[in-house]
Amino acid sequence: MKRNLLLTPGPTQLPPEICASLGKPIIHHRTPQFQDNLKEAVEGLKFLFQTKNDVYILTSSGTGGMEAAVCNLLSRGDKAITVEGGKFGERWTELCRTYGVDTKVIEVPWGKAIQPETIQQALEKDKAIKAVFITLCETSTGVTTDVKAIASVVKNTPAVLVVDAISGLGVIDLQTDCWSVDVVVSGSQKGFMLPPGLAFISVSPKALRLVEQSQSPRYYFDLREAKKAAEKADTPYTPAIGIVIALMESLRWMKETGLENLFSHYARLAKATRAAAESLGLTLFPDPSCISNVLTTINLPPGVDGEKLVKRMRDTYGISVAGGQDHLKGKIIRIAHMGCLDEYDMLTGISCLEKVLKEMKYSFTLGAGLSAAQKVFNE
Ligand SMILES: *Cc1c(COP(=O)(O)O)cnc(C)c1O
Repeated sequence: MKRNLLLTPGPTQLPPEICASLGKPIIHHRTPQFQDNLKEAVEGLKFLFQTKNDVYILTSSGTGGMEAAVCNLLSRGDKAITVEGGKFGERWTELCRTYGVDTKVIEVPWGKAIQPETIQQALEKDKAIKAVFITLCETSTGVTTDVKAIASVVKNTPAVLVVDAISGLGVIDLQTDCWSVDVVVSGSQKGFMLPPGLAFISVSPKALRLVEQSQSPRYYFDLREAKKAAEKADTPYTPAIGIVIALMESLRWMKETGLENLFSHYARLAKATRAAAESLGLTLFPDPSCISNVLTTINLPPGVDGEKLVKRMRDTYGISVAGGQDHLKGKIIRIAHMGCLDEYDMLTGISCLEKVLKEMKYSFTLGAGLSAAQKVFNE
């Protein structure tokens, strides 16, 4: 058996307490005990989402939550805007088109963020647009979107704003109510420190009206059923019972820690990782104006094959980081700051990166990255 440190942007490292909780015998879900757990989990989600809106728990990966958003808000022929600056923005487009939504795609170069004015102009040009779909953290590039600014544009229009916050929630700030975000989708295996299996979706009153009107076919992800069940502290179908209980425990810990402390913890990990990369003579992929604290995306020097580097870090040394997707395949690595990670985990990851870069004949001073990261941690 070998240890494997997950520095990947989902799934993420689980705390030992959560692993222990997941190993407990299962209880039945139609019991007062489970109902109490579910109620506490939903209250915890409202805390983390910073909302008084309903938050529904769906049993699926995060993408199920995204599909629920599309089919519950829109009907065939409705108009929507999607923003594509990476793989996950593209998923919104694919989902919308699957349900026959008339989708206007705004393309952004990978590594850059959408400007709120661009969305404003698109909404002014076509008043029939019913929904705008964006991504809090575009995990394929390491870019954070300015959700607050975009929400301030969308809230004065008939359209609803839908945010894929699958990576980012619990790691960086997203003030659902304060910023007027109608629908927020997340998933269990990123910032929540849980295994994959649950999706979460918060729905504003403005969005709930669309849920009632949608003509799209839906069954498992019908939010009208989720709403009805939630009113009785229940779920329409068998939930992933063990993960819901672990969710309650993870949220309890997050609440005790406090949002500000969570965000500053991850910001420190990100800052140290960026400093390490730059001290190794490497550059960061995203534009500095929109660089994310959720993960650090590093450009690899010519001559270093990113796919080999990722494989060697994982298979030889037990450190998992992510490579690039599509045209970035082999050219970048992505190191996450999500889940149960501390500064020593980051130092372990940086140390392993240095080791493999040396093995791959990249020239730099051994320890330069570690030293830069240590400096940030000692500030
Ligand atoms: C991981 C991720 C998803 C997909 O989630 P699954 O759980 O794999 O379905 C969607 N959006 C973003 C931004 C992600 O990081």
